Amino acid sequence: MRTSQFLISTLKEDPKEAAVESHRLMLRAGMIRQVASGIYTWLPTGMKVLSKVQNIVREEMDKTGALEIAMPMVQPAELWKESGRYTKYGPELCRFKDRKENEFALGPTHEEVVTDIARREIKSARQLPICLYQMQNKFRDEIRPRFGVMRGREFLMKDAYSFHMDKESLNKTYQDMYDAYSRVFTRMGLEFRPVEADTGSIGGNHSHEFQALAEAGEDTIAWSDGSSYAANIEMAEALAPTYDRAAPGAEYSEVATPGCHTVDEAAKALGIESNQVLKSLIVHGDKKEDGTNELVMLCLCGNQELNEVKAIKIPGIADPLEMATEEEINNFTGAHTGSLGPVGFKGRILVDRTADKMANFACGANKTGFHLINVNWDRDVPKYEVFDLRNVEDGDPSPDGKGTLHLRKGIEVGQVFMLGTKYSEAMKATVKDENGKDIPMIMGCYGIGVTRAIAAVIEQHHDERGIIWPEAIAPFKVAIIAIKPSKSQEVKDVAETLYADLQKAGVEVLYDDRDERPGVMFADIELMGIPHIITIGEKSLKEGMIEYKLRKTGNKENIPVKDALKTIM
Ligand code: ATP
Ligand code: MG
Ligand code: MG
Ligand code: MG
Repeated sequence: MRTSQFLISTLKEDPKEAAVESHRLMLRAGMIRQVASGIYTWLPTGMKVLSKVQNIVREEMDKTGALEIAMPMVQPAELWKESGRYTKYGPELCRFKDRKENEFALGPTHEEVVTDIARREIKSARQLPICLYQMQNKFRDEIRPRFGVMRGREFLMKDAYSFHMDKESLNKTYQDMYDAYSRVFTRMGLEFRPVEADTGSIGGNHSHEFQALAEAGEDTIAWSDGSSYAANIEMAEALAPTYDRAAPGAEYSEVATPGCHTVDEAAKALGIESNQVLKSLIVHGDKKEDGTNELVMLCLCGNQELNEVKAIKIPGIADPLEMATEEEINNFTGAHTGSLGPVGFKGRILVDRTADKMANFACGANKTGFHLINVNWDRDVPKYEVFDLRNVEDGDPSPDGKGTLHLRKGIEVGQVFMLGTKYSEAMKATVKDENGKDIPMIMGCYGIGVTRAIAAVIEQHHDERGIIWPEAIAPFKVAIIAIKPSKSQEVKDVAETLYADLQKAGVEVLYDDRDERPGVMFADIELMGIPHIITIGEKSLKEGMIEYKLRKTGNKENIPVKDALKTIM
């Protein structure tokens, strides 16, 4: 590509509206332009990066065996009413009517539409498992669109949805997606960390987010360097006020309301022996009618012989995949619906069910500060303890006792969810089992914020001169800068020849033939983040040399003209 034929839309001045580096650099490098709040056009330079990222995502999705489809952005309200989310989703869902007064919504996510496809197209259990994905614009009327495409209102998401007969199959696809996400973000050059996450308005009972580490991130993640523990502190956001009532190291029973405070009590309520295995423990904060928060406790207990899992006193939602009825889910005013509103409870802790010594912690933040709370349950010590770890700093010991806890800001670039049968039950997406009985399909869903991930890459890869693209997603791999070609036929010839050779070799090259002042051309090319820069000027050509610069390190060297191709490839 010649710059004379390309749209170089670089800005010399810093745009005032940009509060983070990625937004500033995407505007300055001419990648994006705002059309309305949270709504952007991708210009040619940006589009080149976007297509590369899309290709990576597509390649990795295809490798898992997922099948690409394209669903509409405009979705009939009927489907959302069937799932129950039409009223629950809140003002982020953009609702409208067509000329015939039919109600519609702009898709913020596609569980309803894809579940409708599945119930029509999948007739037999033999067709399962199946995973469908798309890359498509979503619309969410975010309360605070900001940071450019990092929190847009219209943004590109890759969303995938899987359908299964049994949980083993879901587990496998979940793991395949988790691995594919790790490959996607690695190929994009992101430093990231998968963390346990809240399931928000999507629902489900088990979820991980992929967090790109960056100071500009809106999320805070806590991770231990001595165990696999990592979580988004958003998980227990509004739990925090509740913990005000618990002094550090207090017995859990001091703050627990209903439920059981000792293993013996739990066992008695369940009618099991107290040495039987506690499988799962979920702690909820609940909002009472008077507006105060209350910590409630739910224990799911069972052992290998007990096939069913029972709950003790459920003032909130149980584990949907295991046991909660749709009614329980719908009636719960805490965790799930709370996360849809501007404030409210947003926490959930799922404890590793396979461990017999259980320890886990909830992390929360509220408007006034940052809190970490550890809820520890040990089978050998028949009591719960709450450790109030508020105001912990990076480098405290990890609450699970293993290693050191670290806090980092993160940008959520992807999330994988085990959905269970939330949508398939509500929308009757069933297949027949071997006995001819209709069974709701078990679902998973998996999202990547494609456009946000690009901003995250820039947050991690830039310097004072501009973006430093990882090669795999750079708009061009090489830039050729010709110094005053109008004054030197030799400069022009060498540049043209190199340009032709690079193109022949399949290298994406931007040939700056603008005949501008060198400083102007350098500034643009470096701002745009092109990894390899070759400068052709009369002076060095006299010695048969051209200048080669690696954007990442800033290293410059003169190389013989004939070595140019070899150096870059
Ligand atoms: P957030 O917590 O940042 O609001 P989310 O949890 O609501 O994100 P998901 O429903 O998990 O988002 O959607 C899948 C992915 O889509 C997210 O992991 C994120 O990368 C991306 N995404 C979500 N909202 C936006 C947005 N407003 N702008 C850009 N990307 C977004
Ligand atoms: Mg959101
Ligand atoms: Mg989130
Ligand atoms: Mg999410």
